[in-house]
Amino acid sequence: MTEKKPLNLKSNLTVALQSAAHSHTPWRILVVDDDADVHAMTRLILTKIVFKNRPIELLSAYSAAEAREILAREKNIAVILLDVVMETEDAGLRLVKIIREELKNNDVRIILRTGQPGQAPEERVIVDYDINDYKAKNELTSQKLFTSVIASLRAYETIMSLNKTRHGLEKILHSSDSLFKIQSMNEFASGILTQLSLFLDCKPQGIICIEESTEVEIQPLSGLPNNMKIIAATEEFECCMKCNLDESCGHKALAALMHRSIVERKNQFDDKYTAFYLDTNDNKATIALVCSENRIDEHDRNLLEVFTSKISIALANAIHYQKMVTFEKAAVTDFLTGLNNRRQLLRLGMPLLALANRSNCLAVAMIDIDFFKRVNDDYGHDAGDIVLKKVGEMMNERFRRMDIVARYGGEEFCILAPSLNIAQAFELFDNFRASVANTEIQISNDATIKITLSIGVTTDLCPDLDDMIAAADYLLYRAKHNGRNCVIVK
Ligand code: GH3
Ligand code: MG
Ligand code: MG
Repeated sequence: MTEKKPLNLKSNLTVALQSAAHSHTPWRILVVDDDADVHAMTRLILTKIVFKNRPIELLSAYSAAEAREILAREKNIAVILLDVVMETEDAGLRLVKIIREELKNNDVRIILRTGQPGQAPEERVIVDYDINDYKAKNELTSQKLFTSVIASLRAYETIMSLNKTRHGLEKILHSSDSLFKIQSMNEFASGILTQLSLFLDCKPQGIICIEESTEVEIQPLSGLPNNMKIIAATEEFECCMKCNLDESCGHKALAALMHRSIVERKNQFDDKYTAFYLDTNDNKATIALVCSENRIDEHDRNLLEVFTSKISIALANAIHYQKMVTFEKAAVTDFLTGLNNRRQLLRLGMPLLALANRSNCLAVAMIDIDFFKRVNDDYGHDAGDIVLKKVGEMMNERFRRMDIVARYGGEEFCILAPSLNIAQAFELFDNFRASVANTEIQISNDATIKITLSIGVTTDLCPDLDDMIAAADYLLYRAKHNGRNCVIVK
């Protein structure tokens, strides 16, 4: 059942991202000690810990040198339990300097554990070395070790979260910058998919929909409102371009989530997808969907809110630009044939004539379809339009890039062709006349007709383009009097 109601949408865009189930990544803790008993005892205490749903993974090093290798190789070590006296009296302390200064790891939390507090007095060490806790082994009960490790994990988590925010914001700034530079809608669509997937560190997979401007819409209970059109889809969702996420679509859950994001006007997250909603303050709305292998946590969601608001502005920008381009194009183009209109012909013709005055060569042709009124009278105006379009297409194919081809008005066309002498001009236009005369034009499923052209061409240069056009028009008039389907050149 569908409910009919106005969908008073502003421009909005939602992006859906697929995400995998939460995996419980362990906290990685490195134990550095030259005493095997210490390793065994630590393992006994720490392997029981589960903090914030995440277990502990222990790595072991029996010397500072070995620890250094592990630290250079392994990622995401949260805490180091570090002995002081190992291969040398201060091997542990030296390792602290290496970690912070050489390996430039300022994130890992270091708990110093010493058996000989006299060797490394607490006050001096905590001030001079960048460590986070100091414990004498003899007073480090299992309870105290537990407490210290948990406190360190919590501190590490905060640091990671701050780092992530910083990186996230950097990415947002960077990617929205690049989105602002994009002006075509297609590029923008793939830009959004790329930037969002970069941000979430996943493959760029998804769909982008834009609202088509309609005042009243029938809104289905599920799937997309039918004024939403998919403008871009990655491989997995290519089929959706055709079905537009309707009843037959295999991606029902996705459609439902996108639908919800439009109705509730906010980002939506479920186990598999994320749908972003973008509001551009325009009357075109867009939805984009990306699939992600990663779980999107609370932290990412907040950043994504910032991200989507940035993208909204870039989208509004792209839509605005697109409109401007469309308006500009409409102002210079004939809507039926797509050729230049008369205004554009005169505008482009001026510099061409100035050049021709130097090179002494420009042919101006006026072309008129013979007895065109009969086509309309006998087959209807739609057939007449088809004929006009066909003649326009043939002109586009036949004439060179440097020629200016325009629909001058009604069934009259004008062509400015530089660098042709009188003989060449005759040959070019007479060939064109002949090929049109020989063409069967399909005006309906079961009817074709043939038409002919009369053409007047002047190569006499005048200072004013209008005068040349008038001269060509006069020659066209003579062609009509000569029996039509011919070219008169002067
Ligand atoms: P002639 O050989 O003397 O040029 O005869 P003609 O019938 O082509 O000339 P006339 O000027 O009498 O008729 C031109 C016709 O072109 C009349 C007009 O309705 C038709 N026409 C003008 N613009 C369009 C258009 O955009 N679409 C269609 N279908 N017809 C058009
Ligand atoms: Mg005519
Ligand atoms: Mg005419």
